Amino acid sequence: MKVLLLAVPNTLADEKRRKGPDFGSRIVPLELLSSATVLKQGGHDVTVHDGLALNSSFAEIASVLKADSYERIVISGFDRCRWAIEPVYEILARFSAMPFALLGGYNRKLIEDVMDRFANVGFSTFGDPEFVLRDIADTVPFERITGVAYRKDGRLAMTGPACIQDLDELPVASREFVDAESYARFPHEDMVSNPIDVNASRGCPFSCVFCVVPLLCGRTLRVMSPERVKREIDELRGTRNTRFFHFQDPVFTQKKQWVADVCRLIEPMNIRWSCQTRIDLTDREILEKMRNAGCYSILYGIESLDEGVLEGIKKNIAVKKIEETVAYTRELGIETRLSYIVGLPGSTPEIIKADLEKITAMNPDFAQFHSIVAFPGTALYADFTKAGRCAMVSESKYDVSGYQFIPHGFKDYHEIKSLTGYCYKRFYLRGGFVLRAILNPAMWARYARGIPLLCHVLTEKIRK
Ligand code: SF4
Repeated sequence: MKVLLLAVPNTLADEKRRKGPDFGSRIVPLELLSSATVLKQGGHDVTVHDGLALNSSFAEIASVLKADSYERIVISGFDRCRWAIEPVYEILARFSAMPFALLGGYNRKLIEDVMDRFANVGFSTFGDPEFVLRDIADTVPFERITGVAYRKDGRLAMTGPACIQDLDELPVASREFVDAESYARFPHEDMVSNPIDVNASRGCPFSCVFCVVPLLCGRTLRVMSPERVKREIDELRGTRNTRFFHFQDPVFTQKKQWVADVCRLIEPMNIRWSCQTRIDLTDREILEKMRNAGCYSILYGIESLDEGVLEGIKKNIAVKKIEETVAYTRELGIETRLSYIVGLPGSTPEIIKADLEKITAMNPDFAQFHSIVAFPGTALYADFTKAGRCAMVSESKYDVSGYQFIPHGFKDYHEIKSLTGYCYKRFYLRGGFVLRAILNPAMWARYARGIPLLCHVLTEKIRK
């Protein structure tokens, strides 16, 4: 079967905006690639178009759709860095005569909504997509497949979700479907502009109210065997001229013994790697093992430094634990990056400014500041009337930020946006950071890569 796997960009903004600064994160869509690999191994003819990496406009997506006579077009707007619901809806609406399938992740509500609104969506995967897509391409009847939503007698029928318990069953996702050069990262995201992405586990059992991860890869943690992780790294190392890797796992240190086993096997490989995790799932001992095995950088999603806000969003991590962990991660010589969300329910501009002072006092190596987005399917979205209000405010209605959430403590979306910019300026233009940058020649090339982003943040206010 001739199959197109299409990942849409986060926005289908017009040509003029697309030519402006583009600061979308560029994470390799590994789930899509492993689906493509499974399909190809099953004898199917597969093409992947990653609209985010290629910064595709609507016209470009349209020409991809029309370019070939695909028997199956699978559209995806949801993975680790693509939360693009509106662009998916837009494409489905504009090509209403064209049959599509949806990569629905674990987001039952979203699958129901899409299938309800778009008759041209014949089915959606539900759960882990790889073997579901293969079975469908092999024309196995829907009723016999676990992990599919389809229409039966005019009604929506759903089986699943498909949850691959043994991730070792998956082949190493082939990178031949995409151009590795399209996935350049920002310096605050990674030391090298395009490390090799790997993903050794799926699932997160936590319930942070804003988070899409459980909707994307399920709540049940599954891990690859340490031997399989080593084999994947070994195979991929030969394909690119780099020893840098990035683990995309949403919460890398959920199982400390597994992390220790992975570290023991990859330590002799002399690679350098980064990952992300929850701060309360680390301790000095495991971090030391990770550092010895080549871990040079960790992103901690702290989200807030206000106890009340952390409790309200069900993050449930004590501020003291955050401060201690950041301190000893830095002491161990691991680059420490913090991710903070501006506009969480319960927060106010005053709380954010106070948090920012605590962040600068902790002095992490990098910090990312994100404006809150209430993503459909999350508890935050379901409950936004209690915690705030939602407004379609983006310039383009096909932009993910159209789902902007405005908590009661904020005047409007612009206040959240401008506070986000303020956080970047306050963090990166303070004397301590500038001095550290100047005194560290080894990092100059990396800092130089961040200059366009900083210029964008600095000039944004002037343009408003
Ligand atoms: S924020 Fe992290 S810990 Fe919380 S649900 Fe998302 S991935 Fe899990």
